[in-house]
Amino acid sequence: MKSKVFFIKARRDEAPQLISRKARAIYLALGLNEKIEPEDFVALKIHFGEKGNTGHIKPQWITGIIDEVLKKSQRAFLSDSNTLYIGNRSNSVEHIRLAWSHGFTPDVVKVPIIIADGLVGREKVEVKMEGSRIKSSRIASAFLNSDAMVCLTHVTGHVQSGVGAAIKNLGMGCASRAGKLDQHSVVHPRVNAKQCRNCSICLDYCPTGAIVQAQGHVMIDDEKCIGCGECLVVCKFGAIKMKWDEDSRRLQEKMAEYALSVKSHFKDKICFLNFILQVTKDCDCLAKNQPAIVEDVGIVGSLDPVAVDRASVDLVNKTAGKDPFREGYDIDWSVQLDYGEKIGLGTQKYELVELKEF
Ligand code: SF4
Ligand code: SF4
Repeated sequence: MKSKVFFIKARRDEAPQLISRKARAIYLALGLNEKIEPEDFVALKIHFGEKGNTGHIKPQWITGIIDEVLKKSQRAFLSDSNTLYIGNRSNSVEHIRLAWSHGFTPDVVKVPIIIADGLVGREKVEVKMEGSRIKSSRIASAFLNSDAMVCLTHVTGHVQSGVGAAIKNLGMGCASRAGKLDQHSVVHPRVNAKQCRNCSICLDYCPTGAIVQAQGHVMIDDEKCIGCGECLVVCKFGAIKMKWDEDSRRLQEKMAEYALSVKSHFKDKICFLNFILQVTKDCDCLAKNQPAIVEDVGIVGSLDPVAVDRASVDLVNKTAGKDPFREGYDIDWSVQLDYGEKIGLGTQKYELVELKEF
């Protein structure tokens, strides 16, 4: 059976109010709003963009959706989880300040911002997964304490998964820091001896005693490390880094499994809107203005994250007349779609319905 994907053409140089009306029309067509109850917590999952990034979804583009959600429940909030890497979004205080600086202020968006995995990324819920490759996922707790989700995604290329869209926003974006680490690496973090100040704080937080003292710095014992990510969180000096050696295939598969664990929580109370505007080679974690790799396409929406991502890639490739994602990184982005389909996250068969009224 095909999944419906609604589509409206849009360009980022249009008036923000017009883009907002288009996004709202797609959101309403999806029917999620009719299912929202007054007492429901509604998470509007978004990426606020790293400091200096300009490609992220603009707050004015989503005000129409927020207005509709608020008509049904006052318990709506904008949300993302803290990042694995040390930056301006690795703790809730700086993350929220950055979101404000990108215009996501209460007077504009009319809903609070809640960083879903708490002050420093430790608030998580473990979800058991029957029969999947990962036995459990570690999801940022505010998402799993919510009743409905509107997943708002800026479609981009990605250095590790080739394409970053709804599946990535759901799987990686909703994971706690430990969940992100789990997806990013089957091995473990390492200590940069030159950056380590030997303060010993990480030793106190490591749950397995994997961090040991060496000459003037600490080291991680790979045999004992369980990849929980705690040391990455607590080191204030950025001395602990990931080994980015999980191959893309495995990472995409894990990402799809995480996405399934989040989607399963919401059952039929989740929808996905992909903004195919200023599609860039890298994701919005990059702290700079990046040129678009294709002309603006528009906004698509679906109840199916696999279908909405497949449609997004197809529209980009059709508009570009080539595959600009593959040109950017020689990564087979189709793994996340194929694997997502295999595990029941959704289907790549879709019916594109273009909306003309908004
Ligand atoms: S917290 Fe950071 S700086 Fe301190 S000992 Fe651990 S790795 Fe070194
Ligand atoms: S990832 Fe967790 S287990 Fe591994 S060294 Fe860091 S704190 Fe210890």
